[in-house]
Amino acid sequence: MNKQTRTDLYKRAIELWGSVSQYRQLQEECAELIAAINQFDRGRISLDELAEEVADVEIMIEQARLMLSDRAVDLCKERKLHRLEKEVGGHSGSDEYLGEEALCDKEEVTA
Ligand SMILES: [Mg+2]
Repeated sequence: MNKQTRTDLYKRAIELWGSVSQYRQLQEECAELIAAINQFDRGRISLDELAEEVADVEIMIEQARLMLSDRAVDLCKERKLHRLEKEVGGHSGSDEYLGEEALCDKEEVTA
């Protein structure tokens, strides 16, 4: 689904259920993601199940951006990314970062 189609869909959802309901749904999805991360760490759910919860949160966050202000969120995000960049500095990365390939490897190990 392209960005414009997605934005139109989100606007229809916000209009249908209202922003209060959508913020509540965002809270619920965040709680589900928190629980899923814990369950994934303990090997109780698969990577696909964790990815599903991440997708749910992203969908609700994209709606929150529309309800708030896309620009305001972008400005905050840019500021925070600069702060992160300073904190990370010249660090070249480590095994803490798991790219898609590494996550697939991990799934095979835990499955
Ligand atoms: Mg969910």
